[in-house]
Amino acid sequence: MISTTFSQTEMFDEIGVKYYLDQNTSLNDFRENLRQIKEYRISTLFVNPFKGDSAFYNYSLLSSPKKINLIKEKKYLAENSLDLGLIMPIFLEQDENYKPFLAVNKNGERADRTWQKMVCPSNSEYKSQKLKLIKESTEKLHPKYLLLDFIRFPVHWEEIDVKESNYNFEEFCFCTNCINQFKIYLKENSKEFNDSDSSSVLTNKFQTDWHKWRSSLISDFVKNVREIVDPNIQIIINTIPWTAEFADNALYKITGQDLSQLAQYSDFFSPMIYHKKINADDQFILEIIKDQVEFQNLFPAFQAGKVTSEEYKKEDLESAFQLAKSMQIKKIILFDFNRLKENYTSTELMSITSE
Ligand SMILES: [Zn+2]
Repeated sequence: MISTTFSQTEMFDEIGVKYYLDQNTSLNDFRENLRQIKEYRISTLFVNPFKGDSAFYNYSLLSSPKKINLIKEKKYLAENSLDLGLIMPIFLEQDENYKPFLAVNKNGERADRTWQKMVCPSNSEYKSQKLKLIKESTEKLHPKYLLLDFIRFPVHWEEIDVKESNYNFEEFCFCTNCINQFKIYLKENSKEFNDSDSSSVLTNKFQTDWHKWRSSLISDFVKNVREIVDPNIQIIINTIPWTAEFADNALYKITGQDLSQLAQYSDFFSPMIYHKKINADDQFILEIIKDQVEFQNLFPAFQAGKVTSEEYKKEDLESAFQLAKSMQIKKIILFDFNRLKENYTSTELMSITSE
């Protein structure tokens, strides 16, 4: 595999960029973008092989004619010195048909408030289908990296201002399947309860077990992924950009990401440090990095432009890079190519990644 070699005077030894294909992306645009990405001296293209029920290559389970076949495009990636990373959303489905699979909150409402329709992590049927998708796409596309996205319980972390002090998280999942499986877990661990106890009684009485059990659903899925994909493919976990202590351990208690467990079955964590979006100052960024690097090598993602409507200045990327560098981060991912292109020329990016 060909990689761009950076001179030693540069800040990072690997820069990836996220690039999202959709049904409207034309083959010409895609190839033109690959050429542009090369000009930015980016080494890895992180791209989605699926969008909804369509695949961007010939896939045996999903059938829709596509303009872009990533298997064929690998040649163009190589010509542009780009390695391939696959972005794989796990507990997320945008299609309405998945409504019965969505996670349920305490009021019995499904996790479908925004475009992020998030699936219950206890559904075995859904998980085995997802594993099949991962297996086939990695076998056919041979990526260098597999980036697991939405590998967590539902939370709209990008809507949370980390400087606020009151958080009212909506907790998931209280679907019948989750509660039944949790009861089995309690029985296996010799915990005494009444079968007629409501889910709120059980989850309050056995809070520690509840958090442990639900986070195991997330870690076990990553373990299953590690078992089925080629060991040469490096697994990256998209982690929530919160410190361990933020909002009473919400990273663990709300999202279900148990960093020590996830580290066992992965190669990198990629905290999505969209610092302007979540209003994180330098100190908070440093703490996220410090907390997560304790468990795993980091390949963090930074925003290269506005995520939504927050303020974003050109200098914001540079200062985040300086912080990353001060913490010996050697690999970074930019979110995303459209934002990068809108805010920086290739010369500008190169100048801020040079010492
Ligand atoms: Zn559930």
